[in-house]
Amino acid sequence: EKKQLDFVGNLSHEIKTPITAITGFSETLLDGALDDKEVSKQFIEIIHDESTKLSNLVDDMITISRLNEHGNLNIELVNIFKLVKDTLQLFSHEIEKKRLNIRIEIDEELSLYCDKLKLKHIITNLIQNAIRYNLENGEIKIKVQNDKKNEWVFVISDTGIGISDEDKERIFERFYRVDKSHSKTVGGTGLGLAVVKESVDALSGRIKVKSQINKGTTFYVILPRFKAR
Ligand code: ADP
Repeated sequence: EKKQLDFVGNLSHEIKTPITAITGFSETLLDGALDDKEVSKQFIEIIHDESTKLSNLVDDMITISRLNEHGNLNIELVNIFKLVKDTLQLFSHEIEKKRLNIRIEIDEELSLYCDKLKLKHIITNLIQNAIRYNLENGEIKIKVQNDKKNEWVFVISDTGIGISDEDKERIFERFYRVDKSHSKTVGGTGLGLAVVKESVDALSGRIKVKSQINKGTTFYVILPRFKAR
């Protein structure tokens, strides 16, 4: 119950901040700032960014509440290469903008039984972070270790800003962000890794992270091998 209350409190705060900005800046525009073209553009950009943030927050919330609905897993055969490729496509604009080099070491034919939607949440959020916390001209490597009998491992590494040992303990908590000001500028909600962790838990898997500040980060998602249903 305490956790639930904390969550609602944090959520209200996270929602309140963009709403205050949107209300404030639109009021200032209505009160006359509209006449100044340059100022108007600046304020509308802020309103746009804050409403995007709000929208991301709501999307993540919907995902989290669905993850916590108890239900059976929906196991189907998933082509991992295609899932990764399709996800990268969603972020092609950001990848180009940062001139990132992407290396995929996954057999194009590799298909595994899994819950596709949960796997998609995991892969999408990890790829998004590998882009977001990378540096210009950085690299992202994505591979699958498929040699163990009872499990397989999805591995994603980046050459970005890295995560300290202290923060490693907390990054999977809902709303936890290492550098609030930095995350603000790059548009995160602090819920991405919580979605990842809760999806991994629902699949009875494990997640590990290795990282070095200013060198980069690697996430290992260890998942059981499901059988056809
Ligand atoms: P956010 O929406 O802020 O990205 P996440 O839950 O996805 O939230 O991640 C929590 C925090 O963990 C981020 O704010 C960031 O500080 C840190 N983080 C996550 N992934 C990476 C990464 N690949 N490299 C460096 N820091 C990361």
